[in-house]
Amino acid sequence: MLYVVATPIGNLGDISARAREILAAASAVAAEDTRHSGRLLRELGLERPLLSLHEHNERARVAELVARLQRGENIALVSDAGTPLLSDPGYLLVAAAVAAGIAVTPVPGPNAVIAALSASGLPCDRFCFEGFLPARAAARRQRLAELAAEPRTLVLYEAPHRIAQCLEDLAGACGGERRACVARELTKRFETFYRGTLAELAAQARSDADLARGESVILVAGAPAAEPGAGLLDATLRVLLRHLPPSAAAAAAASLTGVRRADAYARALALARDVPPGTT
Ligand code: SAM
Repeated sequence: MLYVVATPIGNLGDISARAREILAAASAVAAEDTRHSGRLLRELGLERPLLSLHEHNERARVAELVARLQRGENIALVSDAGTPLLSDPGYLLVAAAVAAGIAVTPVPGPNAVIAALSASGLPCDRFCFEGFLPARAAARRQRLAELAAEPRTLVLYEAPHRIAQCLEDLAGACGGERRACVARELTKRFETFYRGTLAELAAQARSDADLARGESVILVAGAPAAEPGAGLLDATLRVLLRHLPPSAAAAAAASLTGVRRADAYARALALARDVPPGTT
């Protein structure tokens, strides 16, 4: 059996009784960082053989681990924090185990997305998790343009040194008035929820260095249901204007979104000032 075991994201007290039991009984623990998970096991009073499974060796390790599972061993998969596979290694192993007919079972527990959502004050009935945005500016802008009209609450992971820029980019793509939340240092001593509009949070990130300290999840309310056409039109036009002049972009956007061609053209002219043609 392969157990996918969630571990704390900052507070040791969040390890579940079942996770502790499974780790104690596993033949081996496959860990993103064996030193980090070795410390966790010691803190739990456990001693188990550890083997590393990280983004650079996962492909090579999978065959060996699947063979051990096929021999009847129980292996626990953990990452440095939270739930493995969620922007963490493990996907190749789980996919290979499933393909080989090995039983895979989750041992659920901490996860920064769910923790952040549950206390953000933003709608949680439908959400979309985008992981980390691309680091390169052009790819990032393009992804944000695709996400601007998303009606579900958007949840992102972000590295501390990019939080401020990410909030600026989000305000540019989704509009500064969109409600948002930065959930920082969840379950830790300096846990803080910054709530406000994207413009307010971007301004706070510029003036308050604490906002970008430590680990954070960024959440953005979905595009307003009252004007889905406008959000979708803008997002479509922003992508098309990178490759087409305003008149052609407006014609294509009008047939894709159902918005009147004249309205699409007026909007394309306004947006063309922000999105010079040929930008990728
Ligand atoms: N697998 C993990 C999980 O289940 O949440 C996520 C791993 S991902 C490599 C790390 C990112 O998760 C961080 O950059 C941050 O965006 C988020 N994160 C992890 N721990 C956090 C915490 N305690 N507070 C806020 N965000 C956290």
